[in-house]
Amino acid sequence: PSQTLVDMIDDVVGRFRRRPALEFFGAETSYHELGEQIASAAEGLRRLGVKAGDRVAIVLPNCPQHVVAFYAALRLGAIVVEHNPLYTPPELRHQFEDHGARVAIVWNKVADTVADFPRDIRPDHIVAIDLTRAFPFAKRLALRLPIPKARRSRAALTTTPKTRGLVEWERLTSRRALSKRHPRPSLDDTAVLQYTSGTTGSPKGAVLSHRNLRANAMQGRAWVPGLAEGDEVFYGVLPLFHAYGMTLCLTTAMSIGAKLVLFPTFDSKLVLDAARTSPPTFLPAVPPIYDRLVRDAASQPRALRSIRFAISGAMSLPIATVDRWESATGGVLVEGYGMTESAPITLGNPMGPTRRPGTVGVPFPSTEIRVVDPEDPDVDVAAGEPGELLVRGPQVFQGYWRRPVETAETLRPGGWLRTGDIVRVSDDGFVTIVDRIKELIITGGFNVSPSEVEAALLAHPDVRGAAVVGLPSPSGGESVAAGVELREGAVFDESALRDFCRGSLTPYKVPKRIDEFDELPRSLIGKVLRREVRDVLLEQ
Ligand code: ATP
Ligand code: MG
Repeated sequence: PSQTLVDMIDDVVGRFRRRPALEFFGAETSYHELGEQIASAAEGLRRLGVKAGDRVAIVLPNCPQHVVAFYAALRLGAIVVEHNPLYTPPELRHQFEDHGARVAIVWNKVADTVADFPRDIRPDHIVAIDLTRAFPFAKRLALRLPIPKARRSRAALTTTPKTRGLVEWERLTSRRALSKRHPRPSLDDTAVLQYTSGTTGSPKGAVLSHRNLRANAMQGRAWVPGLAEGDEVFYGVLPLFHAYGMTLCLTTAMSIGAKLVLFPTFDSKLVLDAARTSPPTFLPAVPPIYDRLVRDAASQPRALRSIRFAISGAMSLPIATVDRWESATGGVLVEGYGMTESAPITLGNPMGPTRRPGTVGVPFPSTEIRVVDPEDPDVDVAAGEPGELLVRGPQVFQGYWRRPVETAETLRPGGWLRTGDIVRVSDDGFVTIVDRIKELIITGGFNVSPSEVEAALLAHPDVRGAAVVGLPSPSGGESVAAGVELREGAVFDESALRDFCRGSLTPYKVPKRIDEFDELPRSLIGKVLRREVRDVLLEQ
């Protein structure tokens, strides 16, 4: 059936009424309650003037209100715009300027920031959720935030001339339910404006339709064999504001009536505590999270045994991580691949004996791929040769929000999405990611893949993290440079590391310069930001 995300949530609300939909710090919300909260939040938003096609900005960490706000806005046919709640005021302002949301649903930490935007950027209404008061964790989280402390107390967060239009979430949702007859969105309407991670430049808003998001939720669900409707427990440690968490945690869970246990941030103690009372069955995450959990669960070996399936994406998954995870849990951990522009997943390893660690697997159902010459994307490379990956399928986005030039570059005639990633495909169709085109290093006429050099560095027992970049070289072109993060107690020795690299890399790939970092810059989802490492190296 061709259902929108709204039809999908209504369907599970109707079928799994008494079952838990969400859990947050031990408190459960049943599907019935979730349905009621969505209907009353939708009515509250309607009274604020939200109409089909309007943007509704959400600036929240993972919490039940995030899920309610998401579906309430969709129910009205509005476009949800997700934001990293830890973004700095200038970063947020930049996004608000881009999407022009008239209503924003934000946690109290950023209410003042948004209220202080210049008049033409500031939304008409700001709905504030006081998470700090309700949840002590938020205080802890706040200590690590790069955003200024809220300058006004909660009491001041009501109507003052300056913050006119500030509504408290409790007031918004105390109204009666939206009329069932209120018009519903259709499949080709835009559902979400999802910003890319900004790894290679400033984040771009990817326009995703209900059809795109529904397709990826169904593909994600088909990926995992034997999911039992109404009985699974998904752990939402990935941020819902990112395409990966939105699809693999939220919409996939909500498509099978699973319970979604939400975490405002990844903290292995929170996860292991929750696992005692609500054993997880499915955990989408990223490699550093799997490593951390295995390490921290060492003294309670049964803690993770309920997890049958784990999937990793967003960055490459080391085989050592797979081995450690699988022996600790008895379940499988497989790697997939995707990007915001494809809602996000397009490739995945089979979740069984035919999976191939070190690769990102094969195309999802209804998904086609091509490998082309990055200089001339109309020309396919010879079988087995590296080239740029193009993807086509029902999950491929509609274009970038108000960026016709970038859209035309990325979305090729015939519906092919240019990924900007270099891949190789084996004879039997398994795809290996080589690197991003933008991050390949050209040195003395050779292409160096930073991932390959990072892998060589990471093989050294002292190295915990590595980022390899190209720096302008005096002789023209670029030279290979690296930033490394060492394990505790290790002593940094640049020439010893270079000697070590010579054991596995041809000389032109060996970093000319290696700098030690206490901590490499990473995105919130855990990707090492090579661009920022490069900036630091350039400054020194
Ligand atoms: P921006 O487009 O703003 O520069 P971004 O590309 O990091 O940021 P995302 O859409 O979150 O934003 O990430 C998609 C990218 O992540 C892919 O293009 C690819 O480079 C990388 N990626 C995703 N999955 C994997 C994987 N399994 N292995 C290696 N890289 C991956
Ligand atoms: Mg990208």
